[in-house]
Amino acid sequence: MIMKKFVVAIDGTAASGKSTTARGVAKALGFFYLDTGAMYRAVTYKIIQEKLDIKDIPALKELLNRTTIEFRKSNDNKNLISLDNNDVTRQIRMHEVDAMVSPVSAIPEIREKMVEEQHRIAQDKNIVVEGRDIGSVVFPDADIKFYLDCSMDQRALRRGKELHRKGDEISSQSIKDNLVRRDQIDSNRQTSPLKQMPDAIYLDTTNLTINEEIQFVVDAVKNKIAIQNIK
Ligand code: C5P
Repeated sequence: MIMKKFVVAIDGTAASGKSTTARGVAKALGFFYLDTGAMYRAVTYKIIQEKLDIKDIPALKELLNRTTIEFRKSNDNKNLISLDNNDVTRQIRMHEVDAMVSPVSAIPEIREKMVEEQHRIAQDKNIVVEGRDIGSVVFPDADIKFYLDCSMDQRALRRGKELHRKGDEISSQSIKDNLVRRDQIDSNRQTSPLKQMPDAIYLDTTNLTINEEIQFVVDAVKNKIAIQNIK
């Protein structure tokens, strides 16, 4: 039995298996699942739609003030993200968003607003939160932290399959280029760069099946909960 709200933080590189793992872990434990990347993607999608110049900070702030992001469940229990009350679950995975999301996410004003929203959404919940700065900035006191990584070839393969399934025909080279570029921007930005925290459990998912990844995290979380309850 969990006595207090339990936060599982999962960070890692692009397409390292974070979302699939986090979603599976949340389901197995009955926790809420928060995909913070989806939030940055939703804002990026809106910026693209409105053709906004991302150097125009006052305009960005104004856009943020009239932006609402919410997570919902579909009738068949799928996770949906809504932007200003419109379902954008499919749109935020498009290649155009992939190409723009890291520059947008490097802007401090955007991060400040997203982190505020993430704290609001996570309030009073047992939760699995995944992203880049979860263990470092959003929930530095998370009950347990993980850092996921995976070989570039495997990551490009997984991302390619995902995009092709959605009908986005994109060459494997440009998928790789995008992943490399995103990791580079995400790891080197001034505000909340992606980094492995010393207290995070490192997991290389290259040779693991999805079930193995999920099981590894679920077991570690259950152990941690058992230890906390003994103390
Ligand atoms: O997790 P996903 O790959 O969907 O995230 C998309 C992008 O959103 C990342 O490449 C990164 O630029 C940004 N992001 C971030 N901080 C987070 C989650 C995502 O900067 N906590």
